[in-house]
Amino acid sequence: MMRYVSTRGQSESLDFEGVLLRGLAPDGGLYVPESLPSFTPEQLADMAKLSYAELALEVTWPFVEGFMPRDEYAALLRETYAEFHHPAVAPLKQLDGQLWLLEQFHGPTLAFKDFALQLLGRLLNLALARKGQRGVVMGATSGDTGSAAIEGCRHGNQLDVFILHPHERVSEVQRRQMTTVLDDNVFNIALQGDFDDCQAMVKASFGDQSFLGGRQLIAVNSINWARVMAQIVYFFYAGLRLGAPARAVSFCVPSANFGHMFAGHLASKMGLPVDRFVVATNHNDALDRSIKGGVLERQPLKPSLSPSMDIVVSSNFERLLYSLGGDNADLIRDLMQTFAETGEAKIPDQIMQAATHLYSGAVSDDETVDTIKRWYAQTGEVLDPHTAIGVRVAEHHQGDSPMVCMATAHPAKFADAVVAAGLEPSALPVNMQDLMQREERYQVLPNDIATVQQYLADHT
Ligand SMILES: *Cc1c(COP(=O)(O)O)cnc(C)c1O
Repeated sequence: MMRYVSTRGQSESLDFEGVLLRGLAPDGGLYVPESLPSFTPEQLADMAKLSYAELALEVTWPFVEGFMPRDEYAALLRETYAEFHHPAVAPLKQLDGQLWLLEQFHGPTLAFKDFALQLLGRLLNLALARKGQRGVVMGATSGDTGSAAIEGCRHGNQLDVFILHPHERVSEVQRRQMTTVLDDNVFNIALQGDFDDCQAMVKASFGDQSFLGGRQLIAVNSINWARVMAQIVYFFYAGLRLGAPARAVSFCVPSANFGHMFAGHLASKMGLPVDRFVVATNHNDALDRSIKGGVLERQPLKPSLSPSMDIVVSSNFERLLYSLGGDNADLIRDLMQTFAETGEAKIPDQIMQAATHLYSGAVSDDETVDTIKRWYAQTGEVLDPHTAIGVRVAEHHQGDSPMVCMATAHPAKFADAVVAAGLEPSALPVNMQDLMQREERYQVLPNDIATVQQYLADHT
């Protein structure tokens, strides 16, 4: 049975159920599996014919084993990926000779976060039901995560879900994707403040949960191990369809908190032959600077046309550094301590030397718009701004292998960038065409923690 340890080495190890219900480790680190399963080329070749849900079972079972029976887990995965509105779940589309898109936006909320949150909601509900507990999911969102979390948890009869978004500062499509979910256990709070205020409120509430009178708060942010685990699968899925294990494939990932990219790193450690990993950022380019310059830096946030990639610190990058450094927790603890104290730290050479397959690039808003325009003219394909950033960086880092660009969101979610590129706003998919007419429900609350916590206490 898999155990999970902290990247900073000073917390007790946990089993799968433990990491499922837990956010950060008590020592401030992130949980990672103590060891990784790996697949031989022969095993990989056999996996090439599996459906998405069947492949998810093969790839993730070693992490879940012991938590639930294998046949029940298989059924849960089938149910999870049946929520996607494309028979291939994550279809590949050729953009030109060597560039491919992996369309990750066919889930209920039209962005890649559904891959993980649809599974996480089901696993959480199961774990809580077995313990005879109800859980309170609390999260802050500037857009994508909130709707994906709500869709993932709404059917969980052990869960109440509270999502805070900054009042009048998310797009109408994004707000409606959250507020038109009318299930009794879903509570949308429009906070009279900005996204940082929302985050601060969630953080403070996790720090002191006494206002809940004994019920447990659960985090569904992207440091949750089960989210990372679910995302390993589609790297195998794309690689196998493009000729792995006989042929290596490259991946380009539009990145923010780095959960997506770290999952790709794990896929390669588990036996998938990968030529290059390319990390793409917008002008919030701390990751790009870390990879090119070997330093961690904190910079002020600048809003962009790709809001789901606006980030100051990429939490999951710590997991990559830990892995590249040979699972050396002492090294990571020192590094992160210096970073916390000074806002800056040099990544040890031994870690940077292990990152030779890693490339990166940063893209401005103007370049994002230009990329959407150019690929539309060449192929008729409308890229969402996050995907466009990936494609642009991928163009500059092509080697001899096929390059898979992760298409992380549907362009209908981000009309501003599409319109800026001179195109008509993309239509919502058929199953969502009435989104603008659906009934909404949400509560506007002042930026005051006592009021928000009272609201939670009254509704759980
Ligand atoms: C969350 C998100 C990203 C960034 O993913 P990370 O795992 O945080 O790096 C990129 N694109 C879209 C559309 C997203 O919603």
